[in-house]
Amino acid sequence: MNALIIDSSSSYRQMLAKLLESYSITTVAVNTVDDAAPAIQHQHFDIICITINLTGNDSLDFCREVRQHHSYKHIPIIMLTPAKEAETNKLALEAGVTDLFHKQDFSGFQLYIENMVERLNAENSNSGQILYIEDSASTAFLVTSTLEDNGYHVDHFLTAEEGIEAFDDNYYDLLLTDVVLADLSGLVVVRAVRDSVSEDKKSTPIIAISSFNDNARKLELFSAGINDYVSKPVMNEELLARIGNLVKSRQLLTSLNNKQEQLERLALTDQLTSLYNRHYLMDMAPKRIQQAQRQKQFLCLMVVDIDFFKAINDTHGHSVGDKVLQAVAAQLVSGVRWEDIVARFGGEEFVVLLDHCSFQDAINIAEDLRQSIEKLKPAGIDVSASFGLATLKEDENDFASLFSRADEAVYEAKESGRNCVVFKQ
Ligand code: GH3
Ligand code: MG
Ligand code: MG
Ligand code: MG
Repeated sequence: MNALIIDSSSSYRQMLAKLLESYSITTVAVNTVDDAAPAIQHQHFDIICITINLTGNDSLDFCREVRQHHSYKHIPIIMLTPAKEAETNKLALEAGVTDLFHKQDFSGFQLYIENMVERLNAENSNSGQILYIEDSASTAFLVTSTLEDNGYHVDHFLTAEEGIEAFDDNYYDLLLTDVVLADLSGLVVVRAVRDSVSEDKKSTPIIAISSFNDNARKLELFSAGINDYVSKPVMNEELLARIGNLVKSRQLLTSLNNKQEQLERLALTDQLTSLYNRHYLMDMAPKRIQQAQRQKQFLCLMVVDIDFFKAINDTHGHSVGDKVLQAVAAQLVSGVRWEDIVARFGGEEFVVLLDHCSFQDAINIAEDLRQSIEKLKPAGIDVSASFGLATLKEDENDFASLFSRADEAVYEAKESGRNCVVFKQ
């Protein structure tokens, strides 16, 4: 970033330059507005800091003149005044000054620069995928170049049909669409987006661009779900500001949703084994039971308890014990269908809820799992597990009673020598 400093005192110029340079702003400092005029011809400045000249109006005239230049329409012009007077303020703002500071208010000025640098950096670090539908190749060229120059990635299409196809196949942070298109109306594009099945696609921000000034048609577009409207001829700064606002909110929302999903996942899974936790099982089991009863389907519950696990911990240490738990968990998951729920119920006890599974099938699955765990030898250790099985009875709607039968079965498996499967009707 470059700043132009205009002040008659060389020590004050140096002070300002030092402050601005501490924010990595390159400075050019001049004595008078007469020296400033050639400077702005030779180089573009992102900020101008000018001290008001009390003996004449030339500093205000300079500001007015600067604002006439296309490239200086939107930059901050900061005026430093030896005294704050309402009348000076008014004149300065009218001349195009963005903000005024008392010459001695260094901390206020510093805070302002700090915020401004942060804002400009954020504006310059635009990133986002934009889908752009415009049937005029020349307009499209100009708008696309502006957006790309400002850090966006743009996919441009001349027809609504191609645009909708691209929208279906890709992720976009924003859709920019012309309203009068060669094939279909922009309204059709808006409706296609808002009718998307995926919630994520459905909420893509949309800006419509058009040259018509008919309020009824604008209203129709807003009713169909556009977020914003830009008139042709497009003013670049306005378009960029509107796009920036929508893309940033969209990205913030996406990151919040991702965080929310992450938190939900964390709350429902066991960190050590990545299996579902007891909380998830207790939440889901009644629903699965209800569904099984409604559809008159089989449902079985398996309780798996590792044998002599305390001895494994005692002999090999807790971290080896953890590895055994992870290996057994992975084995259980790989031995059942993806829609079955495998949960870590407590320490070395696991529960598997088998959907649409007859008692005989469940017994076979349990026996296969028992054998595969016996062969597993995680960390080179002989490990086995005891299995208890129960099946949902007709008209049984209570998870607790189903669980207690499977738990009794696992207890019996322990009693009858461990490393075996016991089932209770
Ligand atoms: P049984 O064959 O009768 O089931 O005997 P057991 O030793 O497996 O059963 P017990 O309930 O006496 O011991 C379970 C042990 O599991 C005790 C506890 O310290 C250990 N444990 C619980 N959670 C964890 C864990 O997250 N990591 C490790 N390494 N050990 C755990
Ligand atoms: Mg058009
Ligand atoms: Mg055990
Ligand atoms: Mg146990």
